[in-house]
Amino acid sequence: MIRIHILGSAAGGGLPQWNCACANCTAARAGKITPQTQSSIAITGDSEGFHRWFLINASPDLTRQIENMPRLQPRRDSPRNTPVAGVLLTNGDIDHALGLLLLREQEIPLVVYAADETRAALGWLDDVLARFCGIEWRKTIPEFQTLSGTVAFRAIELPRSIAFQFRDDSSGETALFAPSVAELTDELRNAVHESDVVLFDGTFWSDGELAAIRQGARSARQMNHLPISDGSLDFLHQSPARRKIYTHINNTNPILMPSSRERAHVKQSGIEIARDGLEIVI
Ligand SMILES: [Zn+2]
Ligand SMILES: [Zn+2]
Repeated sequence: MIRIHILGSAAGGGLPQWNCACANCTAARAGKITPQTQSSIAITGDSEGFHRWFLINASPDLTRQIENMPRLQPRRDSPRNTPVAGVLLTNGDIDHALGLLLLREQEIPLVVYAADETRAALGWLDDVLARFCGIEWRKTIPEFQTLSGTVAFRAIELPRSIAFQFRDDSSGETALFAPSVAELTDELRNAVHESDVVLFDGTFWSDGELAAIRQGARSARQMNHLPISDGSLDFLHQSPARRKIYTHINNTNPILMPSSRERAHVKQSGIEIARDGLEIVI
């Protein structure tokens, strides 16, 4: 059995974002929609008694996310301990990596799995943490390798990012986490097709979404995110996965608004919309 806990479901900036007055951020400040923290998930397997967790991406909201989730908090039987056994990075984006700095009080080096390009891009963060706990870097590879107990994982290479597929070796069940998808590559299509649960890039509804709010902003595709409307929606709708869930949702995305036709469209397509605290057991 694999347990996945969504620590944060928002894209970089969160909901609300400190300097944003878009309709969603304004509604979140007014208490009309629920605020969401920046994207990260925690994963564990039952062979570890669900007591040893790995984080996939470490967001700038990480310490708040830990305080919101008792099972990620230290046991009371020793003064310093943590159930967090390591971190896997999909890429070196600030909203995925800054949380590593917040774990600096750890007494042993942080175990971090990442692609070589991500490690190279995070040289600055490596230098800062070297003065504290340091990082024990481990490589991600395209074949399944053991993460912990019966949980194995592999990396699926995408343009400027990787997705992770997890497998419980005792049940054969699989889950995919792909929060930064620039393109539906054949390998990613196959992985989605083979997964029981799919957590997918739901950053933007449309390619020009950000430019409609901030003049001169890059398009979704230029920012490494395939939009939902004319990018991933039909593909996910047709995929056989038991649960399909959009996560890493930008605060400008109309699917966040309860009454929107875009949200209704996603739900009618059989796809869920993530929220902080959602737990998935496979
Ligand atoms: Zn991100
Ligand atoms: Zn906003």
